[in-house]
Amino acid sequence: MPTISDPIVPDGASHPRAERIWCGNCRTAEHVIMDSIEPLKPPVTGLVDVAYTCVECDTFYAHPATFQDVAAILNQRGTVRGVLQFGGEYIHCGEPMKISGTGFHSVYAPMSTEDPAVDLLDVYLATKVLQCRCGFRMELPS
Ligand SMILES: [Zn+2]
Ligand SMILES: [Zn+2]
Repeated sequence: MPTISDPIVPDGASHPRAERIWCGNCRTAEHVIMDSIEPLKPPVTGLVDVAYTCVECDTFYAHPATFQDVAAILNQRGTVRGVLQFGGEYIHCGEPMKISGTGFHSVYAPMSTEDPAVDLLDVYLATKVLQCRCGFRMELPS
């Protein structure tokens, strides 16, 4: 039975409140599927805006949550520790990491020519470097 919930966050609240990620109906986070993870606006360190669905009872939730909570849900699937991967984005410190540059690894595949005019991009592995504002960096194949 639906109840009319109290307005949890009063107008003009200066601090968004993180809520636990779980399904209040099923009283577990076991069946939760993350739909989206985004930085808060304005961004708050350690907090993200999440939306998720409990597939057991088909209930949709959206609220701020702590980075640790999100990690606990997602890391069940074995993501790199401290980094959340979601929807093509990599999130560290609660916000998506930004591409700070690209590089090329010298995975050199010898071709039939040593001609320096040959476009070496074809034989180098392109990578992109993601950087968090905390300085954490990681490199990925692009
Ligand atoms: Zn549920
Ligand atoms: Zn970071």
